[in-house]
Amino acid sequence: MIKTKKQGLLVVLSGPSGCGKNTVCDIAEEQNPNIWESISMTSRKPREGEVLNESYYFVTPSEFEKNIEEGKMLEYAKFAGNYYGTPRESVQKHLDEGKDVLLVIEIQGALQIKEKIPQAIFVFLLPPSMKELKRRLRMRNTETEEKVLERFETAYKEINELSKYNYVIVNDDAIKAANKLNAILEVERCRVDRIEDVFLDTEEERLHEQLVEKDLDNKPIELDTL
Ligand code: 5GP
Repeated sequence: MIKTKKQGLLVVLSGPSGCGKNTVCDIAEEQNPNIWESISMTSRKPREGEVLNESYYFVTPSEFEKNIEEGKMLEYAKFAGNYYGTPRESVQKHLDEGKDVLLVIEIQGALQIKEKIPQAIFVFLLPPSMKELKRRLRMRNTETEEKVLERFETAYKEINELSKYNYVIVNDDAIKAANKLNAILEVERCRVDRIEDVFLDTEEERLHEQLVEKDLDNKPIELDTL
């Protein structure tokens, strides 16, 4: 009786560095092949084990700034002294193909997306405790102690912004957290504003259509106009 929009959902996932965003997303993607995780651009140096053009597009600060000037970034921010940002074009392409696009980004970038695309879905991932977060940051062994403490301090600031998000997931178990992320996608797909069309067979359904049309905000996401 109803046809839903072809365009996928845009999901923004934030959470303090070290809270397990990437692990949770990897599991969520395995569970749900309709998720496409955007590949960010960064001026940070690659860590051991990171794959070029897969973990990130690694560029120099001036290359990053050139991309900003050319309007190629949907959002960007400076975090721990480095640029991070989402390339606009591939996000639009995957949304239009019907993929649910996942942006795993820090809060300044998330707030830029919220400003531009209020219909995106904002999910915040929390560690089970701050003590556990510090332990995970240290355990990664990828940063100096000074950088770990800097990230830990930023985590407190980020958690203060929790109320700007729509959903919160506590990551005390990565599989359960990924299940919750996919459950959010499923629920969001049931929202009335995802309806594109109502099929008309009876007088009753025709009446329904008039009601639905009034309420629907059917505008697809157009990144070029932002
Ligand atoms: P890391 O250096 O640990 O890979 O990332 C540092 C922070 O930058 C993390 O919170 C991560 O989610 C965030 N980040 C990664 N990609 C992007 C992006 O494209 N835009 C923004 N704003 N933040 C990002």
